[in-house]
Amino acid sequence: MASDNPCLTCGACCAFYKATFHRSETASACGSVPDELVEDHDSFRVVMRGTRWAKPRCTALHGDIGVSVGCSIYEARSSTCREFPYAWEHGDAHDKCDRARLAWGLAPLQARHEPSTVPLPELPGIEVHAGPDDVAGADATLGSRLVSRTRG
Ligand code: SF4
Ligand code: SF4
Repeated sequence: MASDNPCLTCGACCAFYKATFHRSETASACGSVPDELVEDHDSFRVVMRGTRWAKPRCTALHGDIGVSVGCSIYEARSSTCREFPYAWEHGDAHDKCDRARLAWGLAPLQARHEPSTVPLPELPGIEVHAGPDDVAGADATLGSRLVSRTRG
């Protein structure tokens, strides 16, 4: 992870979205994600432990959100996590990144990965730690992997 990666001082999506992915990505199924860090989600998917709790926070996340964070299984994380870009990482806006940051009181990133200087809007319908939605639906282009970072 590059040192200028804005995720290192964020972590909001890891404590906002349900991170589900196909169980074939778990270590016991010849994947990489430690089994002890996942829970069953449905017949073919597992979910990162902690991300479907009422106050979601992935148990692999360490550090303080909005200050300094890290993923304890970074090299072994699922495709769902690997393929979730931060806003402007690939030149495009990413509303899910923005929404997670806003829920944690963090300004959306600008094109150069700096927090926006525009005052945060009032979001009466969104609470910090709002109930998780699956992250999967949004990144449905992952096709047969049935990955999901969904907001449900
Ligand atoms: S919300 Fe965006 S900036 Fe924050 S950790 Fe997730 S992808 Fe990175
Ligand atoms: S596995 Fe790592 S990147 Fe994925 S949600 Fe958990 S802390 Fe975030």
